[in-house]
Amino acid sequence: MTRESFPNTVLIVTPEEQDINHIINVLSEGAYNYITAKTVVEALSNITYKLPDIIISDLALPEIDGLDLLRKIRTGIKTRLIPFIFLSESHDTFDRIEAYQSGADAYLMKPVIPEELKALTKSKLKQLNEFYHLSVTDELTRLYNRREFLKRFNSEIHDTENGIISLALIDIDHFKRVNDQYGHQMGDNVLMTLGDVLKRHSTERFFPARFGGEEFVMLFPGLSSAEAKSKIDEIRDELKGIDFKTGNREIFNVSFSAGIAEYPAMGNNLSHLLSRADHALYAAKEEGRNLTLVYSSVMARNDRFWEYLKARKEVYLDSNGRDLVTGACYLPAVLEEITNLDFEIKSIGAMHISISSLIDIETVRGIKNYHYDMENIARVIMASCGNHFPSDTYLSMADIYEHDFFVLFPSIVDFSFNVDKFHELCTEIAGEIDHSLSGNNYGICFSSDVVYFEKDSPWDLIRNLKKIREETLQRISQSPETNGAVDTFRTILRPDSGDACNVCSRRFCYDLRTMKKSFQYAVITDEKGEHAVLDIAVHKLVKDVSSLQRFLDCMKNVCSDNRDIPVLLPHIHNVPMDVYIKHAATAFSERELVIMVNEKGCDEVFRTVDGLRSGMPENFSLGLSNCFIGNNILNIISMTELRLLSFSEHSLRNIHLFRERIKVINGVKIFTDQLGIQVMAENIYLEEEFHVVKDLGICFVSGPYPEHLMERNGSG
Ligand code: GH3
Ligand code: MG
Ligand code: MG
Repeated sequence: MTRESFPNTVLIVTPEEQDINHIINVLSEGAYNYITAKTVVEALSNITYKLPDIIISDLALPEIDGLDLLRKIRTGIKTRLIPFIFLSESHDTFDRIEAYQSGADAYLMKPVIPEELKALTKSKLKQLNEFYHLSVTDELTRLYNRREFLKRFNSEIHDTENGIISLALIDIDHFKRVNDQYGHQMGDNVLMTLGDVLKRHSTERFFPARFGGEEFVMLFPGLSSAEAKSKIDEIRDELKGIDFKTGNREIFNVSFSAGIAEYPAMGNNLSHLLSRADHALYAAKEEGRNLTLVYSSVMARNDRFWEYLKARKEVYLDSNGRDLVTGACYLPAVLEEITNLDFEIKSIGAMHISISSLIDIETVRGIKNYHYDMENIARVIMASCGNHFPSDTYLSMADIYEHDFFVLFPSIVDFSFNVDKFHELCTEIAGEIDHSLSGNNYGICFSSDVVYFEKDSPWDLIRNLKKIREETLQRISQSPETNGAVDTFRTILRPDSGDACNVCSRRFCYDLRTMKKSFQYAVITDEKGEHAVLDIAVHKLVKDVSSLQRFLDCMKNVCSDNRDIPVLLPHIHNVPMDVYIKHAATAFSERELVIMVNEKGCDEVFRTVDGLRSGMPENFSLGLSNCFIGNNILNIISMTELRLLSFSEHSLRNIHLFRERIKVINGVKIFTDQLGIQVMAENIYLEEEFHVVKDLGICFVSGPYPEHLMERNGSG
């Protein structure tokens, strides 16, 4: 329903021109807008462009009859409440009953009595308008409700084009006390009074709405935040001056606090704008209430998003007793579930999967990034098993110390007859998992077997599973722990090493909007051609001035051309920052460098940052890499002058599958926006990951998928 413009619109459907004119005459020209149609098809096509407020239609129409039109109207979401009046020559009672059964509001016999049609139309429209008004307003204050406000805000944004819109969030101060001391009724009274005050100050364009509870919102299209503030302050003064009288002749006053944000300067969509107005409101409350504040970026420190993060107290298990990291149950819980299944289990196919980490992510990049990986791996395992096994699959954590998994396939048939087939399937599954994890620097080891299941001796099951697990663990202990990339890098750091370009290659980060090359950096390429972990090799191998020197020579070689594109250098934990900077300055002379300090272990670097800054050459800046680990990131990025923040690839891997992570990254992103720090996503593999990153408004991106895009567009 679009009951925003008066006069109301009447749709008249009748094949005869003279009937149309007659009806318009009866309803009196000028009282309404009219749309006319001679057939049902024409009527429906008119409705697509302009929704009528009432329909007057002949029952008998050529081709398709009026009843069909009515039924269509009654099933459309936007049209089903439109009043519908039939005009008919038929005196047949059954016709009339059928019309009512199909949802007609009235059935008038022809020739119509002019006064009747006129009165009926008027009363139906009045009813509809009242109904519409009820549906878009709040019943206590009669201001627009939240939904209607959001709708109107969006249409304002459409209309405003280059204009500005200010938005004020209003929250009554200590309103709980009003309720507690003077009763809920009195509380309602206060709300209605504020509603009236807001209405008095509203115009066609500046409209208020009740946002929920004792929160109100007011929109000021065309006003700057400062102008809106002065309007809100007027309103605030007026409310403060109102004496509320209680039953026992006590008098009290109320105030409110308000936060203001301005579109598009402080947010380019409604949710940003609301979140910022909310920050300002929160700051006004903090500063003692009875105050209007305009949003400024320091207020973002009060972001409720961070409170939400801090409020999550669970450490090891979620509220359902599942492993907090992977979301999987521990083995005993899963066995409990399987033994209590309603149907009789004959055998259980069991696959034990142990994760081997090619590099020590936890030590170098921190526990949170390791957890992101584990969460991801659990998803990958479930997805692969689901692809290959049509029946129910149970994933469990085998152990609380290690991240190893049992996948169990309980079966009502005894598939120990066909153990080979099961092994084959597991090998296929494992291959798929291994492939999916190749970008993560993890590999898997697995063992599988079919175990017989007997309800009477459940502990046999445990014993058998234990055997399977031991087999895997043995296999792991036999496989040598190597990391080709780190080893190769070791050789090039030797004094007699040859050309670094063999093992290192150069990558670019692209600006996500223009796809222009914005930064360059080096990666190690291992035997498999996978880009691996320069920062980890550096962490392990660069320990003194001479290895630092060779490392920098190597970087200089790899990034020798494209001298105008800034170079990203990794954090070196084992060499003091000032020494690193001094040598890098010599090696790269005038070129622009960003040292990407690792979030793990960055505290120390940034503690000495003031000293650093004075000694920092002009062409140097700092970035933060491998985000996001925890709440302390908030402090780091607000205390330090950062040029870039790069989310860890652990957090971005398969990001499309993890809503919680998207929320977390979005929270960080809002915060970095406010501080003017640009954000980056490195090493993006998948198209799905790329789309999420793009939707999050991340500025720079690198990795196989963006490279592939560039190649496809022929602009590498
Ligand atoms: P603050 O200054 O921090 O805003 O304090 P406050 O007491 O106003 O705190 P808060 O915003 O948390 O309290 C809102 C209260 O508003 C809680 C709720 O009982 C009351 N409330 C919400 N809707 C209504 C309503 O329709 N009528 C009445 N009487 N009270 C309501
Ligand atoms: Mg409140
Ligand atoms: Mg309040």
